[in-house]
Amino acid sequence: MTREFGGRLIPITDAIDLHCHPYPDLFPRLADDIDIVIAARNAGMRALMLKCHHESTVSRAYLLRRMVPGIEVYGGIVLNSYVGSINPAAVEAALRLGGREVWMPTVDAGYHAQIHGGTGGYDAQKGGRSGQEGIWILDREDKLRPDVLAVLELVAQHNAILGTCHLSPKEIVALVRKAIELGVQKIVITHPFFKVPNLDLDTLAELVRLGAMPEFGYCTISPAWQYASPDKIVQAVKRVGASRCLLVSDTGQRHNPLPSEALRVFAQTLFEKGLSEEEVRQMIVINPAELLEPDGKADTAEITHTWAAAVGHPVPAAFDGQVSQPSRA
Ligand SMILES: [Zn+2]
Repeated sequence: MTREFGGRLIPITDAIDLHCHPYPDLFPRLADDIDIVIAARNAGMRALMLKCHHESTVSRAYLLRRMVPGIEVYGGIVLNSYVGSINPAAVEAALRLGGREVWMPTVDAGYHAQIHGGTGGYDAQKGGRSGQEGIWILDREDKLRPDVLAVLELVAQHNAILGTCHLSPKEIVALVRKAIELGVQKIVITHPFFKVPNLDLDTLAELVRLGAMPEFGYCTISPAWQYASPDKIVQAVKRVGASRCLLVSDTGQRHNPLPSEALRVFAQTLFEKGLSEEEVRQMIVINPAELLEPDGKADTAEITHTWAAAVGHPVPAAFDGQVSQPSRA
């Protein structure tokens, strides 16, 4: 039995974090893939989705699943300039290699550049290539560009998750409407109250009505950035319903806790600010599992056996260095 030290502690057992930022990344990070995945596994979490502004995380996730038993790790691709912007070929490769989410541009979005004074970084943090015009997904007639449509078709075909990221509110509404028309079933409104996109509550409610799910991140309310208060998030969840919302850490920055601890603090805070334990658990356990559809925990030894048996090779020792032995200094 868990000790509660005089009050309810919200567990993160079986929780899934659909948005965290380990190193490698061009921004400074608190910890790398392995440290973040092991900490989450040791906290009892079920799965993590790795996000990087500068490269696909799909192959990183594949290797982590092989190396760290007891937790599922997934990746995806952010369509910034580093992967050729809105690039259907990069999306196709990411999804065929097992990627689960395709994110619209973040730090290279035109809207991001407008609000943060340039691409590549934040007003508070520099990282990538700066000074470009930024990527807009609408043409001069406010229609979605053909490459965006091709990306949406791929997302629909693979039943992957579409993340709206740092697009403008107007672009997000147009994207969500078109995505649904093209058969995309899983749409996440990335950190709605972050500085970008900073949606108003009516627009957010309308996007939820269309079928999208807002993903509220600890990073948005973090001490260093404070783009929204926990009360604002509680209010939004009450308005649109916990059955339609997700909580994520969106951490990896050095001024924030590790993703697993950030998610716990966030869940506990929203509980103390007025959401029920059931609502909070729905947003960290049930809803993300419905979107992610995790495959079940990978058995690394069994995979190693499969190829060795197929070629008649002696079975190599499964990778079980420090990685599979939980040890925290
Ligand atoms: Zn993020």
